Amino acid sequence: MSTHYDVIVIGGGPAGYPAAIRAAQNKLSVACIDEWQNFDGSYAFGGTCLNAGCIPSKALLESSELFQRAQHEFATHGIQVGEVKLDLAAMQRRRAAIVKTMTGGILAVFKSNGVVGIQGHGRLLAGNQVEVTAPDGTKTLISAKDVVLASGSTPIRLKTVPHDGKFIVDSWNALEFDAVPKRLGVIGAGVIGLELGSVWRRLGSEVTVLEAMDQFLAVADQTIAKEAQRHFKKQGLDIKLGAKVSSAAVAGDLVNVVYVDKQGEHTLQVDKLIVAVGRRPFTEGLLAADSGVELDARGFIQVDEHCRTSVPHVWAVGDVVRGPMLAHKGKEEGVMVADLIAGLFAEVNYKVVPSVIYTAPEIAWVGQTEEQVKAGGRAYKVGSFPFAASGRARAMEAGQGMAKIISASDDDEILGIHVIGPMAGELIAEAVLAMEYSASTEDLQRTIHAHPTLSEALHEAALAVDKRAIDAINR
Ligand code: FAD
Ligand code: NAD
Repeated sequence: MSTHYDVIVIGGGPAGYPAAIRAAQNKLSVACIDEWQNFDGSYAFGGTCLNAGCIPSKALLESSELFQRAQHEFATHGIQVGEVKLDLAAMQRRRAAIVKTMTGGILAVFKSNGVVGIQGHGRLLAGNQVEVTAPDGTKTLISAKDVVLASGSTPIRLKTVPHDGKFIVDSWNALEFDAVPKRLGVIGAGVIGLELGSVWRRLGSEVTVLEAMDQFLAVADQTIAKEAQRHFKKQGLDIKLGAKVSSAAVAGDLVNVVYVDKQGEHTLQVDKLIVAVGRRPFTEGLLAADSGVELDARGFIQVDEHCRTSVPHVWAVGDVVRGPMLAHKGKEEGVMVADLIAGLFAEVNYKVVPSVIYTAPEIAWVGQTEEQVKAGGRAYKVGSFPFAASGRARAMEAGQGMAKIISASDDDEILGIHVIGPMAGELIAEAVLAMEYSASTEDLQRTIHAHPTLSEALHEAALAVDKRAIDAINR
């Protein structure tokens, strides 16, 4: 291992590893240090997203949805499959194999780009020196002209709900359950609560979700949130709003949860309890006292819009800095920083970061919600199109949800696009591209969309903005 590099990246998750690869593509010498250790003791690049987040959760969402559809939908298609049985061990082996392939892929891409991957803990010292502690405890000093901090985030724990990793668990534990809990409690009806609640509900758990806020999915457009709440209720997710958990305790093989809502105090008994109340930036052991890097009041590393920290030539990207905790946001920041280090032009357009919730139906959006536009005071118009009127959605037995477009009344600028329905997470890419290029609603209206596709819903919603939808009644 050499001791000096052009760039050292601390953290090999979806923010750090793309920074390392792009820096190497920019002909810089690069080392990427990562300490991620799996439950089986193995080390792996890829961070939360690949090992314990985006990828394993999507693997289980896919498998559990197929299980659900085989039970309840195949017959509608005229397919008789007999009794559908769950082999959870096989489902979990598939999840683990996908993760292993994807994390192994990072090493292959590192190798082909000449990135030096170092397994161990990195600590930034003054003067752009980095102390690396190898898994066997050996310490080495390396240095670089530029250092990129990409140490990510970790689940928030609740003091009154003591985590034990067995009965009271976080999202990572909940991805690796080896049996379907009969009764599952989830604290937090956010993205994780809804995705993991859906997985285990589809596999047979009775799921109760306790959400402290009175409003469901407050971050989403409320037309979409209301539609989502209706579907989740029908699927059997028991979502209790305004429910503040006061304590949870393990007793034998059960968890007793006490929560308070407008009706008073309640107790809930579950077999497993997932705490999914958000994540916090992870900087433990990252910064020596004299590193000079500043944190904000909430523990995020302070950066400007180009991800520069308070120390020259030290950058920070991904979940450890302000903004949405999303893999694609971190990736763009990592790539931007690697280009800026190489003296190239780069920026991230934070106005068009898409959000996707991988439930069924999926929920996806980009730009402002109708509530945000209304609060901003700009005059606007809205168009929407139901998937019930989409031939392709009907053919897929997925005619639920809608696409909704909010545009400015004055210059027709698209302000926000919101989709709940089949493949919403894929459909939103067109919306992001349109907004990235500052498209007007008319631009979308004049763009040919193949028939019959789900994307026609976006086309028709754009037409509906001016009450010119063809395949639905204009209101
Ligand atoms: P991380 O992925 O957290 O990576 C940081 C890495 O740095 C880790 O490997 C850590 O071990 C390492 N590290 C930390 N400190 C040090 C140190 N001092 N020395 C060496 N290594 C260190 N986002 C999406 O966009 N789409 C999704 O579908 C999605 N699903 C998710 C599902 C779940 C269950 C969870 C928990 C998260 C999900 N996310 C999703 C969020 C996504 O995982 C994060 O936004 C993303 O992983 C952040 O990337 P990062 O590189 O900033 O941090
Ligand atoms: P979140 O912020 O999405 O949701 C947390 C929820 O918990 C909120 O609704 C909040 O009101 C509620 N809450 C907070 N404290 C509570 C309490 N004491 N009692 C009851 N409810 C409480 O956080 P998350 O679901 O933990 O996810 C963490 C991060 O991971 C998110 O920022 C998200 O961006 C990311 N993530 C993304 C995806 C995706 O992109 N599909 C999937 C999973 C996770």
